[in-house]
Amino acid sequence: MMLTGMHIAIIGGDARQLEVIRKLVELDAKLSLVGFDQLAHHFTGAMKLPIGEVDFADLDAIILPVHGTTLDGNVNSVFAHEPIPFTEEMVQKTARQCTIYSGISNAYLDELVKKTGRKHVQLFERDDVAIYNSIPTAEGTVMMVIQHTDFTIHGSCVAVLGLGRVGMTVARTFAALGAKVKVGARRSEHLARITEMGLVPFHLNDLEKEVRDIDVCINTVPHLIVTASVIAKMPPHTLIIDLASKPGGTDFRYAEKRGVKAILAPGLPGIVAPKTAGQIIANVLVQLLYADLQKREENHA
Ligand code: NAP
Repeated sequence: MMLTGMHIAIIGGDARQLEVIRKLVELDAKLSLVGFDQLAHHFTGAMKLPIGEVDFADLDAIILPVHGTTLDGNVNSVFAHEPIPFTEEMVQKTARQCTIYSGISNAYLDELVKKTGRKHVQLFERDDVAIYNSIPTAEGTVMMVIQHTDFTIHGSCVAVLGLGRVGMTVARTFAALGAKVKVGARRSEHLARITEMGLVPFHLNDLEKEVRDIDVCINTVPHLIVTASVIAKMPPHTLIIDLASKPGGTDFRYAEKRGVKAILAPGLPGIVAPKTAGQIIANVLVQLLYADLQKREENHA
């Protein structure tokens, strides 16, 4: 499986993007790297250039950072001094089949994609990516809990809220470390699965009652569920780690008022394991780019 003949622009990003570059170079893709000027490393077959010099008409794909763009249309790069503008005019110059890849999207990117009619793939919406990413997320959560408690995970009572891709991995990981894990969910099939996993299930409607004896609460539900009345029932030493996307699912203001330590911990994979997180993205990207290439070759045949 090679990507020979594909021209891909990689615009901005962080250490994760280096894994993507490495993999695409290995597979013989032609790369235009924008926003990597401070990166000392030279990749053969990859050219560093300013955004103004990119041959957009020749591109098969554009790879943006995990966060896509900023809301005002720039792309951030940890390897450049300045944000890189990414505009509709640039994308209009690309061929119709040119695909844009990012981890997540925002209003600016959605609008740009709509106006230009290009295909946009949000890698983090994919189940496989979310499940692979849940592994460094769980490890990062362990790190946070160790850092912010004076007791062992082993033997402590941990409540995990939500049995999605992250919740399931986090619950398993803490159970494997010897914690007494209970998991809150609202769907009966989730409660059944929690039971099957050998953990203690509870309905999220009973959250207030269930937090009375916990030491750690790990939230993965991206809605306000760790409310003031829930926090009020927790023992004061409880540590809340909120993994849900910003703004999280915790009433942080109330937690602070009550003296319960509550931490919003976004983006753990990129923090604790940028190399693995980059490889997760790279592996999926390669499959998708290869499928694009095959489709293009079929159309030419
Ligand atoms: P997911 O698979 O969609 O799981 C979300 C869970 O929340 C599901 O079990 C869902 O249950 C439950 N849920 C959603 N809305 C709810 C509500 N209103 N009331 C009760 N339960 C509700 O998502 P995921 O991949 O596990 O990700 C979970 C969150 O973590 C997301 O916000 C994601 O962005 C974030 N995340 C954070 C990190 C990090 O480093 N901190 C890393 C990866 C992901 P139902 O099935 O019943 O709806």
